[in-house]
Amino acid sequence: MVSSAEALQGAGAARGFSEVELARVRDDFPILDQRVHDRPLVYLDSAASTQKPRSVIDAVSHLYAFDYANVHRGVYELSERATRAYESGRTAIARLLGVPDPREVVLVRGTTDAINLVASSFGRGRLGAGDEVLITAMEHHSNIVPWQLVCRERGAKLRVVPMNERGEISLDDVEAMMGERTRIVSVVHISNALGTVNPVREICERARARGIPVLVDGAQAVARTPVDVAALGCDFYALSGHKLYGPSGIGALWGRLDLLEEMPPYQGGGEMIATVRFEETTYAEPPAKFEAGTPNIAGAAGLAAAVDYVEALGLERIAAHEDELLRYAEARLAEVPGLRRIGTAAERAGALSFVFDEIHAHDVGTILDREGVAIRTGHHCAQPVMEFFGVPATARASFGVYNTSADVDALVDGLMRVREIFA
Ligand code: PLP
Repeated sequence: MVSSAEALQGAGAARGFSEVELARVRDDFPILDQRVHDRPLVYLDSAASTQKPRSVIDAVSHLYAFDYANVHRGVYELSERATRAYESGRTAIARLLGVPDPREVVLVRGTTDAINLVASSFGRGRLGAGDEVLITAMEHHSNIVPWQLVCRERGAKLRVVPMNERGEISLDDVEAMMGERTRIVSVVHISNALGTVNPVREICERARARGIPVLVDGAQAVARTPVDVAALGCDFYALSGHKLYGPSGIGALWGRLDLLEEMPPYQGGGEMIATVRFEETTYAEPPAKFEAGTPNIAGAAGLAAAVDYVEALGLERIAAHEDELLRYAEARLAEVPGLRRIGTAAERAGALSFVFDEIHAHDVGTILDREGVAIRTGHHCAQPVMEFFGVPATARASFGVYNTSADVDALVDGLMRVREIFA
């Protein structure tokens, strides 16, 4: 069977998908064809995790059914096949990010793991008392807590670039807060709580002028916009497979080779060593140095299939499609009485957060679920964002390649129902 991705390959300039194309895309995702509470499932929670196309599901099950063994150490055929499948995840991510040397791609569990790796390893190597780490006010907890841990250990200080009431940071603030003691800037590319797209290229440019490395949290970005790390000018880029139509438990850290070479190991164990003696151990070169233990082999195979999938559809077209949906959703949400948007940055993508002042977000989510509409409610692992906007939680609708304007209409109908119930 020809998947929609193959059928659409080479379809031309960036525009969204036609109805026919979108129907084919939806056919690639078996999970979407079901009813929930006797209503057709409307999945609007892709910022938390995307659904998986059949090609990813098949790649994972094919690995277990035909090619499974432990990787790297085996001299036999099965192990070599498993190793090839695992390494295909690395080369796919290198291609996705425009990285010529796959040694710069470390396979990890996901964005959280990638940031913890950099915070502990780079932090151990480079942070001392009085040094500073610069993040922004809209970071996910996974780009706050690892830095807090290492700052506490090293006597360093975490500094936070503020945001305005639309959920935007200013480049002037970023520039003013980069000082003599700033050792790293760590910033989210697209905010999961607000949908803000940060000016990461400009941030990197300013940091580079001062010799400060930049880590970009790309968890929300890689599935919805083309990313070229060289063009961005960053030093580390973190991502999760499960937000990129791939499996959970696999993700990647891209890092500049000279930095990865300089950084001490993150975890010790098998795979990451050159020689082990009780007196002294020497370490493998990157990326193996950071991949201790048996990795998520099937996850990496699925990750490669996921990258193939988005590349075949075209990230420009995915971006155009999601942008059209976002604009449509914003216009439709404006029709819902009492709904207040949280996060109205000029550059937005992916997610729409909102509240009703008199209805708790969890009630909104629960009623929508009865209507078959799955959205996320809560603090979205960004409690400082909630505190800034003075709300305990928001409701958040987020989009993926398979969403349609009919999904947005179902959301709005559901929200009207919420209004009726609470009237
Ligand atoms: N950063 C952002 C912006 C996210 O949206 C998320 C997940 O929601 C993460 C980091 C953490 O990703 P993971 O849970 O896959 O490690």
